[in-house]
Amino acid sequence: MAKAVEGLRLITEEGLRHDGRRPDELRPVRMEVGVLENSDGSALVEFGKTKVMAAVYGPREPIQKYMVLPDRAVLRVRYHMAPFSTSDRKSPAPSRREIELSKVIREALEPVVLSEQFPRTTIDVFIEVLQADGGTRTAGVTAASLALADAGIPMRALVGGVAVGKIEGVLVVDVDEVEDGVGEADLPVAAAPDIGLITLFQLNGVLTREELDRALEMALGAIRRIVDMEKETLKSKYQVAGEGEE
Ligand code: ADP
Repeated sequence: MAKAVEGLRLITEEGLRHDGRRPDELRPVRMEVGVLENSDGSALVEFGKTKVMAAVYGPREPIQKYMVLPDRAVLRVRYHMAPFSTSDRKSPAPSRREIELSKVIREALEPVVLSEQFPRTTIDVFIEVLQADGGTRTAGVTAASLALADAGIPMRALVGGVAVGKIEGVLVVDVDEVEDGVGEADLPVAAAPDIGLITLFQLNGVLTREELDRALEMALGAIRRIVDMEKETLKSKYQVAGEGEE
């Protein structure tokens, strides 16, 4: 799906990437919470040109009454790419990929949400990819984590995500669409570093055992930085004026 660019060298002689980043460097990251009026919590997250919005409703009474569990809330996640998010217009109908990613993202969030505090309710997470340039599933997890916190839903810890790729033999953090299109491997990871939990781990392509260990280490280092940014974003919205200041 991602397009390769003919003849483009993706790692320069100086070891830099096609956009000038070092191998362990994230794209410029922007995060904002409380961006929507009509949901209980929301967030907008950007990794370079990838822009993802998340909106959360709940805990609330389920619309379909049979969809309840007696001992905890049901977490529902919908990942969707807007028709204008890709260079070729994407059909707005949910694709197999979007159905699969909705499940993968739900499973990346479920272990941190304290759903047992809200039996017989649902928590709905809507993830809308506004612009896709690689790494939308991990940006989706990051946006959802922020939107859940913004909705006041108790969580064990915040989750963040990033993909590590192998490009021309070099392991790089936060792959964009060009890199994804030509890379030898792609390892999306999500984790809650504060409780030492990995909640998403996928591998496309082939890595040696040593490369896998190193790629995971790079992903977890980047996720720690991403989760720190999440905390700063939430603090700057919710810190009461004067609190925490010298
Ligand atoms: P992720 O977005 O998590 O990296 P993929 O590896 O499936 O997921 O996709 C990589 C990138 O390919 C996406 O971020 C997006 O830029 C592009 N892409 C995915 N699906 C489509 C599609 N249906 N049409 C055009 N581009 C797409």
